[in-house]
Amino acid sequence: MNNKHNDHQYGQILKFIYHLEPQAIWFSLSATIGQTLTPYLSLILLGLIINAVAAYNQSTNLVALISIIIPVIIVMEIAVAYIDHRKRVAQLSLNNQVARQINQKWTSVSNSLFNDPSFRSRNAEIDEGFAYEGTFSSFLTANFAAIINLIVALLVAGAGIISALISKGDRQPELARIANGPAFVLLMLILLIIPGVVAQYSGHKSSAIHNEAVSISVQINKVINYFMNHVFNEPHVSKTIRLYDQGQFLKRRMDSANTDNFDVNRKANFKASLYGGLTPAVIALTTAGAYLLLIVKYLTGAIPIGTIVIYAGFITQLISAVANLTNQMASTTVLTQILVKCIGFINMADPAASGTLPIEKRRDNKYQLEFHDVSFKYPGAKEFALAHINLKFAIGQRLALVGPNGSGKTTLIRLLTRLDKPTSGTITLNGIDIQKYNLHEYQQIFAAVFQDFKLFALSVLTNVAADDHPDRARVQTALKIAGVAARISRMNQGIDTPLTRELNKNGEDVSGGEAQKIAIARAWYKDAPFIILDEPTAALDPISEYEIYQHLDDLIADKTAIYISHRMSSTRFAQRIIVLNQGHIVKDGTHHELVNADGLYRDLFNAQAQYYTDERIAKERQNADVLYS
Ligand code: ADP
Ligand code: MG
Repeated sequence: MNNKHNDHQYGQILKFIYHLEPQAIWFSLSATIGQTLTPYLSLILLGLIINAVAAYNQSTNLVALISIIIPVIIVMEIAVAYIDHRKRVAQLSLNNQVARQINQKWTSVSNSLFNDPSFRSRNAEIDEGFAYEGTFSSFLTANFAAIINLIVALLVAGAGIISALISKGDRQPELARIANGPAFVLLMLILLIIPGVVAQYSGHKSSAIHNEAVSISVQINKVINYFMNHVFNEPHVSKTIRLYDQGQFLKRRMDSANTDNFDVNRKANFKASLYGGLTPAVIALTTAGAYLLLIVKYLTGAIPIGTIVIYAGFITQLISAVANLTNQMASTTVLTQILVKCIGFINMADPAASGTLPIEKRRDNKYQLEFHDVSFKYPGAKEFALAHINLKFAIGQRLALVGPNGSGKTTLIRLLTRLDKPTSGTITLNGIDIQKYNLHEYQQIFAAVFQDFKLFALSVLTNVAADDHPDRARVQTALKIAGVAARISRMNQGIDTPLTRELNKNGEDVSGGEAQKIAIARAWYKDAPFIILDEPTAALDPISEYEIYQHLDDLIADKTAIYISHRMSSTRFAQRIIVLNQGHIVKDGTHHELVNADGLYRDLFNAQAQYYTDERIAKERQNADVLYS
């Protein structure tokens, strides 16, 4: 790692911090200067007192000296304590700002970046790095402080030591000849430099050991994190683990990962502590040498005895500042790399979200969407999930997408809502390529219920409204339209009941079908010009499904609707039906047209007709009413 690269990284980090929380820099800077200066003042006081005593000066002088310096030290200490407090607050605020930036990234990136493995692994590395190496505030308290410390030491202690070296004495001529010569100065310089070199070396070595251990740990922790964060985090996983008796197997995997982790860190710690001990030992030796040189100066009469105390203290300060900085530089390259990675993560390019055009807010909802020869292949897939799709949506129309599993229905919706980008061809909104629009604004014109929808461990109200200021009456209406209002009203806190007990012990669980209805209520509440229902009744029993159909008119109202289902009876309400098969549009027309023509639609319809007639569902409902009443 060359220095230029380091400088560049420091600059980048400081600029980032300055942008987020400038006070963190100012208070860290002034706190460090204050903290660094106070020991010099104490040293000077001590030396002057000794000199005064040794020279048998009048005691009034001594009293005057003490009565000036002591208050100065007290005031400085108070100022330093205050600034230190402000520094801590500013650094906490800085870390808070960084967390906000990371949250912002996660919640605003495009779907493709969100699912990009390198985006996720980068975030994992940053988490890991923050836990092991510290954060931006650690950079300010360690690295940045070490630089300031050295600058102050060079200015104050450097000036003092130079003045000691150039002062000449004539007592003991033999000694004076050596002490006044250039070799003496050179010797002192060497003594001051050696600890820096050693610290640089040992810091470099121990950081290499540390780095290696961390990178091995990160690999090992991936296994543990996977189970802890992804597997054990999902309550429903418990069934699989228990019924397939995977518990012992998983435990062995995790135990062995933990043992490996322990071994790696134990060995690394041992090696690092060997190098860690080297610098203090060398500092002790060289400091002793430097003291010896000062004593020689004293013996020649160049400096009084109290001044030895002052300069000896200066030498200690300077040597440890040099050693500290070089040590920091080497070992905090890991920290700076993590911080640079974090900045990179926050600024990570997101090509799928690069559009900037605003979405025209239209009261009449006249949004014209069109697919122009659109094809799409999932990353890594061999075959196209969709091929050469041409399709134009009539505003206010109800469109049904039907076709067997895997025919590309969900994929078509993913492209339409910009969760994925077509491999070729374009989709236009009012004649303009949808990629050119601001992603967030564009996605707000759709309310979609996907097959794999997700509800959160928050209240029903918050789930439906997805807003800090929910309209309670509207949420009630939404739940009624989705056919789940009665069920929710029976919950212990009605619409304020939290779902699941993950975040709240008063939470309640709902069934898959009920969850799906809540997701439908959420889509209605959003009131977007397009409503998309991707097999919304897949988890529902025939009665609930029937109820959803009864409310479909309220649910869709005058919106443009896309209704996906492989249950043909449910698509009859649509004004236009599109049949997909193996990624191609194979039929396009009204129910009447399609059912009277040969082909997939008629085959599927006839195959299912006997199971899903309205009459049959109505009958089942009657039976159920008798049963439950
Ligand atoms: P449908 O919704 O009609 O059941 P999909 O649109 O989900 O079908 O899938 C279309 C095709 O794309 C299928 O062959 C499916 O296996 C494939 N596919 C779906 N999602 C992915 C994915 N994330 N990665 C790779 N292939 C996928
Ligand atoms: Mg699907």
